[in-house]
Amino acid sequence: ATPAAVMVGTGRGAELGILVKDAVAMEKAANLSVCVFDKTGTLTAGRPVVSALVPAEGFDEAGLLRLAAAAERGSEHPLAQAVLAAARRRGIEIPRPSAFEALAGFGVRAALPDGELLAGKQELLEQNGLSTAGLEAAVTPLVDKGHTLVYVAHAGRVAGAVALADELKPEAPAVVRALRELGLRVFMLTGDGRRTAMAISERLELDGFWAGVLPAEKADRVRELQTGGATVAMVGDGVNDAPALVQADVGIALGTGTDIALDAADIGLMRGDLTGVVRAVRLVRATVRVIR
Ligand code: ADP
Ligand code: MG
Repeated sequence: ATPAAVMVGTGRGAELGILVKDAVAMEKAANLSVCVFDKTGTLTAGRPVVSALVPAEGFDEAGLLRLAAAAERGSEHPLAQAVLAAARRRGIEIPRPSAFEALAGFGVRAALPDGELLAGKQELLEQNGLSTAGLEAAVTPLVDKGHTLVYVAHAGRVAGAVALADELKPEAPAVVRALRELGLRVFMLTGDGRRTAMAISERLELDGFWAGVLPAEKADRVRELQTGGATVAMVGDGVNDAPALVQADVGIALGTGTDIALDAADIGLMRGDLTGVVRAVRLVRATVRVIR
C-alpha cells in the first residue's frame, strides 16, 4: 500500500463517515473472509420494548410486571430499562429491593422483604432449581419471532416471563446480502438465548450464530474463527463487545457506540447505519486494488 493511495482512500472514507485507522487496517479489511455482527444494538436497534407478559399460574400480568420491575430497578441493562418503562406506563408502584446484584450475561438478583427475586434468562432460573416448563407453550410463539424473554421468580416460585422485542435495523437484511455477494460469510454473536438467535439468524439468512455467549467469551469465538483460517471483521457497538473488536482482524465500531469501542476499533462508522459496513468493504477493496 502506497501512502498516497491510503491517503486518498482514507479521505474518501471520511467523506462517507468511515474512519479507517491506518494502512494495516486497510490491507486487512480488503482481505476479509468473515464478518461477525453483535446482535443487540448492532443488528437490532438496541431499544427493546415489552411485547407481552406471560404470567405463571397464580400470578397476573400486573403482579408479574411489578416483580420484574422491582428486580430490574438497580440495573442499567436496556432490557431492565424497558421493563421499568412498561411498569411505569401501567402506573405500577415498583417496590425498592433491599439488595441488588447484577449477574452479567444472565440477569439480576434482588431481595424483597417477602423473598428473593430473580430476573433473567432461563438458565438463571434453572441454576436456581426452578423449572420454566410451565411457560413453554405460551412463550414459544414469542421466541420464534425473535423476542427476548426475561424470566421472573419470587420467593422460590416462577412468576412468569416478560417478552421484549428489539426491532432489527431496517437495513440489516440488505447489508447481510450485500456482504455475502462480496464473498464474506456472515455470523452473529449474542448473549441472548439460542431460540431467539435462531429466529433472527433465519430472518437474515446468516451463515451461522453463537447464542448465550457471555461477554468475556465473545473474543474467544472470534479467535476460533481466526484459528480456522478466517480473516475476521467484528462489528459491534462497544457494549460488551470491545474485547471482541480488539481480537478481530478488523474491529468495526458503530458510531452509536462508546468511546471504548472507537479506541478498540480499526474502522469507525460515524453513522449508526449498518450500510457503512458494506461501503467500508467496497472502499478498502477499491483502494487496495489501486495500490497493488
Ligand atoms: P447481548 O450479548 O445481547 O448484548 P448481554 O450479554 O448483556 O446481551 O445479556 C445476555 C442475556 O442475559 C440477555 O439476552 C438476557 O437474556 C440476560 N440478561 C442480562 N442482563 C439482564 C437483565 N438486567 N435483566 C434480564 N435479563 C438480563
Ligand atoms: Mg451488545
